[in-house]
Amino acid sequence: RECGLTWQNNLKRVACSAIDQRVSSLRQLSEAIWANPELNYEEHKAHSLLTSFLKREDFDVDEKYTLDTAFRARAGGDSGINVAFICEYDALPDIGHACGHNLIAEAGCAAGIGLKAALEATESASGRVTIMGTPAEEGGYGKIRMIENGCFKDVDITMMVHPYLLNVVDGVFIARDSMVITYTGKASHAAAFPWEGINALDAAVSAYNGISMLRQQMKPTWRAHGIISNGGAKPNIIPEKSELQYYLRAPTNAELDVLKAKVEHILQSAADTTGCQVEVKSTGRYSNLISNSRLEKLYVYNAQTLGVEFDPKGKTTAGSTDMGDVSYIIPTIHPMYSIGTTAYNHTREFTKAANSDFGHQQTLTVAKAMAMTAIDILTNPELLKDTREAFQNELETARHP
Ligand SMILES: [Zn+2]
Ligand SMILES: [Zn+2]
Repeated sequence: RECGLTWQNNLKRVACSAIDQRVSSLRQLSEAIWANPELNYEEHKAHSLLTSFLKREDFDVDEKYTLDTAFRARAGGDSGINVAFICEYDALPDIGHACGHNLIAEAGCAAGIGLKAALEATESASGRVTIMGTPAEEGGYGKIRMIENGCFKDVDITMMVHPYLLNVVDGVFIARDSMVITYTGKASHAAAFPWEGINALDAAVSAYNGISMLRQQMKPTWRAHGIISNGGAKPNIIPEKSELQYYLRAPTNAELDVLKAKVEHILQSAADTTGCQVEVKSTGRYSNLISNSRLEKLYVYNAQTLGVEFDPKGKTTAGSTDMGDVSYIIPTIHPMYSIGTTAYNHTREFTKAANSDFGHQQTLTVAKAMAMTAIDILTNPELLKDTREAFQNELETARHP
C-alpha cells in the first residue's frame, strides 16, 4: 500500500523501527505520568520524567521553557523546516488521567524520536524536530501562554494526537470565551428605605433574561450558558453587588465576536435599566481549531498503511482546546484516536483505558503516523507549499465565515 519513492519509504521505516525499539521505555514513561496525576501548572514530576527521558535520547532540552512545567526538546540542527510534536501531560482532579494526556506525552516523544532517527539516517532530507512540552491544557491555557512567550516562533508545522473513543482526523473544537460580569449598585434597607438602594441583583436577572431571549436569534451552533454566582447577601439588604459567570461558544473566532457583541449590549442595557455599573471581564479565550486539510490527508494515508481505520461518521463533539490558538498561527493537525474504550473522555473508564495495553499500542501507531507525515513534508517541498497554501485559505475562511 506504499507509494512515493523508495528512499522516502525507507526513512519512514527507520522512524518506525526507532519507535519499535523503545516500546517498553516509552510505555514506562507514560505509566509513570499516569500513576502520578498532576493538575494544571503543577506537572513537576511529569516535567522531570519527560525532560530526563529526552536528554537520555540525546535531545537538546530546555527545561522550564518560559513556564515552570513547560519544556522544549530539539534535534536536527539550527536551520531547515521545524516540525513540532506536542506533548500534554496534565490530569484532572479526582479522576486522574481521564483525558489520557499521559498518552499524548508518549506519542509526542515517540514521534520526535522517530523523526530524529530518520533525519540522522539520511543526507537527502534536512529539517528540525522539536518536542514541545505544553502544560495546563485542562482549563489553564498553557499553549496560549507559550504562544505569548514566543515559544512557537520558529515552528513551521505542528502536530499532536489526542486519545478518544474513535479514530477521527478532524475533530471539532470550537471557540470559547469565558466571562465574569459584575454589577455594582447601592445597598439599602430593603423594607425601610428601598428607594435609597440600587439593586444589583435586578441587573443580573435582567442580563440573564436578556441573554435567554437572545437565544431565539442565535445560530444553532452558538452557545451562551451561565450562572448567577452572587445574588446578594440577605433579603433585607438591597443587593449592592451581583456577579454572573458565562461561557460563550461559536464555531469560529469571527462568529464568537459577533455573539459576544450582542451579549455585551444586553449586559450594558441591564446596567442602564437598573442604574448599576457593570464590569465585564474575559477570564480566558480559546480559538477554534483549524485542522490543516493537506496535513490531514497525509496523516490519514500514513495511519491507514499502519492499519488505523477512520470512523466514516467523522466529527467529534464540540469541546475546546488551547491547540486552537496554535492552529491560528501554524499549520496544525490534532487527530483523535481510539484507545479501545466506549467511554467518553473525563470518565473513570477512560482513565483506565489510558493505561491499557491497547491504549499504549495505538498511541505508538499514531505516533508513527505523525513521524511519517513529517517525513513526507521534509522530503517533498511541494507538499510543504500545499500545506502552507491550505493554511492561508483555511485561516481566511475562518476569519470570514
Ligand atoms: Zn480533557
Ligand atoms: Zn484532553
